[in-house]
Amino acid sequence: MEFNKFLALIIDKRPKTIDTRDVSITHSRFQSIYKGGSSYYEVMNWSTYYKLADLTKYLDYDCRFTELGCKQYCFKNKKEKEEWINKNKGENKRRVYWKLMCCCGGCRGSLGYLPSIAPGAVRIYARHFHYKTGFWREGKGCVLPRKYRSITCLGHSCSANHSETGRLLLKALTMSERQLLEYFCKNFKKHRLIGRYRWSASSITRYFKEELLKERKEEEV
Ligand code: SF4
Ligand code: SF4
Repeated sequence: MEFNKFLALIIDKRPKTIDTRDVSITHSRFQSIYKGGSSYYEVMNWSTYYKLADLTKYLDYDCRFTELGCKQYCFKNKKEKEEWINKNKGENKRRVYWKLMCCCGGCRGSLGYLPSIAPGAVRIYARHFHYKTGFWREGKGCVLPRKYRSITCLGHSCSANHSETGRLLLKALTMSERQLLEYFCKNFKKHRLIGRYRWSASSITRYFKEELLKERKEEEV
C-alpha cells in the first residue's frame, strides 16, 4: 500500500498507533508504574523486541498448512474449497479472504494487532500491507518479517507444544527491558553463560538462540 494511504489508515483506526517517542524506548506493551511521586512507563527497546521476535522462527507452531488450509480451518478437499470460494466471491469479496485467512482473518482491520509502530518502521509496514488482506497473502500466509509482527500474532497458536525455552521466549517478549534483565539475573544466576558474558539484551538473545538450536538438534536425533 502507498505510504500516505497507510498513514491515513493508521490515523483513521488508531490515532496512537505511531509512537512518536524515541524509537529506542518504545514497546508494544506499556505498564504504568508509580514511583517517587511520578508515574513512568516500563518499556522494551525496539531493537531488543526485534531480535527476540525474530527468534520465534525457531518455534514450531504446529499449524500444518496445506493448500487446503491449516489444520484448524481445513477444507475437506479441493472441490469443497473451490465451491466455497465461488459461492462467496460475488456476495462479499472480503468474506472469501476472511475464511481462507483462518486466525489471520482480522489482520486488515486490526493492522496486524500492532498496539504501536516505531516511526522508523512505518514504511516497512506500509510496503507489506494490502488493502484487502492486510499483511496476509493467499498461498503465502503472513508476509511480515517475524521481527515486525506483534506479540499477539507471535503468541497465538491453537495447539503448539512449545519447549520450555520457547515459552520463555514468548514471555520475554511481553516484558519490559528492566523486567527481562532482572528475570535473567534472578533465574539464571548459575547459567554457564555467566562469566562469559554478563546478562544484557544481546547475551539474552544469544542464549535463546543457542538453546533453541540445541533443542532442534535434539529433536532431529
Ligand atoms: S500473523 Fe501476520 S498476517 Fe496474521 S494477523 Fe499477524 S500480521 Fe496479520
Ligand atoms: S494458529 Fe491459526 S494458522 Fe495455526 S492452526 Fe490455529 S487457526 Fe490455523
